[in-house]
Amino acid sequence: MNIKSIIFDFFTQIRSIFITFKHMFDMRETRLYPENPIYLSPRYRGRVVLTKDPNGKDRCVACNLCSVVCPVSCISLQKSQDKYGRWFSKFFKINFSRCIFCGLCEEACPTSAIQLIPDFELSDFDRKNLLYKKKYLTISGTGKDHKYNFYDHCGVSIKKKYMYNIPINVKDLLP
Ligand code: SF4
Ligand code: SF4
Repeated sequence: MNIKSIIFDFFTQIRSIFITFKHMFDMRETRLYPENPIYLSPRYRGRVVLTKDPNGKDRCVACNLCSVVCPVSCISLQKSQDKYGRWFSKFFKINFSRCIFCGLCEEACPTSAIQLIPDFELSDFDRKNLLYKKKYLTISGTGKDHKYNFYDHCGVSIKKKYMYNIPINVKDLLP
């Protein structure tokens, strides 16, 4: 080791100490999670929930579209029917150990029942606990879609069935 390298090493050490000291006054890059929660955009695709309509009733009509479209087949449900003929899911389960949070179920749902919300805290030590039943999937609110009520638009019986003189001559509809 010659004198030149000793001087070089000395100044390298001084430089390192200076840089460390300088960064002590910089803004902190890391966050103290979970004490300081992280902001997630409203469109964040996290936990999957079942919502209710503005009247507080279950939105899900057990059409099975979400289950069919799910690429990992993690949704299972069974249809039932109440005394008014309204369909509902007798059971509804999502296996979050398989869900990839793709959002396809939300896109397919005609009633806005199933939605992905900005919540990612789903981890668990036991896989069995990641199988969520309807009771734990259902939230009390409307989620992102506050006003939409499927039954305001569909499934409403037509009172005057023949008021438009059905059958219509389709040739009358031609341009
Ligand atoms: S987010 Fe994707 S993977 Fe998860 S339940 Fe919906 S369709 Fe299935
Ligand atoms: S697509 Fe919507 S309405 Fe149909 S079964 Fe799934 S959650 Fe229910």
